[in-house]
Amino acid sequence: MQKVKLLKTLLDEAVADLHRPHSFAAERVGFFSTNCSSTGKTTLVHCVAYHSVPDEQYLQDHSVGVRIGSAAITDAMARIAVHKVGQVHVHSHGGVGVPSPSGVDSAELPSLGRSLHNVDHGKASGWAILSGNGGWSSIAPPGNSEIGVESAISVVGYPLTIVQHGADRRTRWSWRRLFKKRTTLVDRFDRQGFLGPDSDTILACLRVGIVGLGGGGSHMAQQLAHLGITRFVLCDHDRISETNLNRTVSATEADVKRKTKKTAIAERTIRSLHDDADVVKVEMWETGAELLMRCDIIVGCVDTFGGRRDLEAFCRRHLIPYVDVGMDVQQLGDQKYEIIGQVILSMPGKACMHCMNFLTDEVLAEEARRYGAAGGRPQVVWSNGVLCSAAVGIIADLATGWSRSGRDSIYLNFRGSNLSISDDPRLQYLLGPCPHYPLIEAGDPTWTPL
Ligand SMILES: [Zn+2]
Ligand SMILES: [Zn+2]
Repeated sequence: MQKVKLLKTLLDEAVADLHRPHSFAAERVGFFSTNCSSTGKTTLVHCVAYHSVPDEQYLQDHSVGVRIGSAAITDAMARIAVHKVGQVHVHSHGGVGVPSPSGVDSAELPSLGRSLHNVDHGKASGWAILSGNGGWSSIAPPGNSEIGVESAISVVGYPLTIVQHGADRRTRWSWRRLFKKRTTLVDRFDRQGFLGPDSDTILACLRVGIVGLGGGGSHMAQQLAHLGITRFVLCDHDRISETNLNRTVSATEADVKRKTKKTAIAERTIRSLHDDADVVKVEMWETGAELLMRCDIIVGCVDTFGGRRDLEAFCRRHLIPYVDVGMDVQQLGDQKYEIIGQVILSMPGKACMHCMNFLTDEVLAEEARRYGAAGGRPQVVWSNGVLCSAAVGIIADLATGWSRSGRDSIYLNFRGSNLSISDDPRLQYLLGPCPHYPLIEAGDPTWTPL
């Protein structure tokens, strides 16, 4: 499976440049630099920088809309050789949705794409066409393949564009079945039609990873399944016990007797709503990297700050939006307590949890001093419910764009004493790109010999 990912901010930058008038050329072209994440059969191609073609590198040729000189191609090839990135030739067709190549595109651009790929077969190069909110690409993956893999581009931003990757026959078959079922069961989603005319399909295609299926994660799986999400990667090694029953929704006394795995309880809930759901379970998220890489959104309901840091770093590397949910109970004085909790949307390219000052050297060092143990921290069902409902709301909006809020960076604070949930005031000052995870570092690390 190959998936091409492009941050919304980079799409906007490219489209703004490509639509500038030129003194004689009817249209403009540019290049994306790419990095890749590759594991097993999954390759993610990340567009990590945009390169405008200078005015003087265009040639006058009235037989076509645009022609660039050899200097522009040489510059692109030099970026592959020097910076160890792939290059994707790009132009825009305007409009919205997934564009299709024109006759001239199909006649001229595949050979250019092949020339770029031939500079370094270890990089992902080819050609692509953009619209105002999406794109189409033909990119040869790392390796010796000469043929570009054609696919729509997944735009990471508000709202996400979810691409249905149906490369293998089984997926196509189940997709047809899913579609048939949705049309016959149209009543089920009648009351959430305001999410948009295509929202059922978008949510059915969305793949969500949930790390931690205890107090928080059990709510996430239950609500997301009701919302219409059918594709899950569930990560937890733990089995249910008596002290989990105060907060793990769907868990029963019989599960405690059987020592059922928490992922199996969540899967049971999901399948009770979608018998053909695509649910994959893994014990440790670190060993399920290939499965998690394919997710469109990852939710972390983990106990430790170190665990959150590692999950966010994984998501940034693979350009996946990360939603963090957590709560704690603090003792303020004699017999006085406060429940504090947070829901964070950490969007690639935007403020991360370090930028937000939620993850600090102090809290990480303090936790490391305690060997990463969160201990048997207090947890209650209602605050997990409030926090997870807010997180489900963030996911529904990100996937469908129903509210048109455009919010792609969120930090909400919960206080149990007055049951309030409010924006963290620090977020409004964090408008610039995140310095901790530069876009150019997305993908597998590349090693350059000294
Ligand atoms: Zn074209
Ligand atoms: Zn940051």
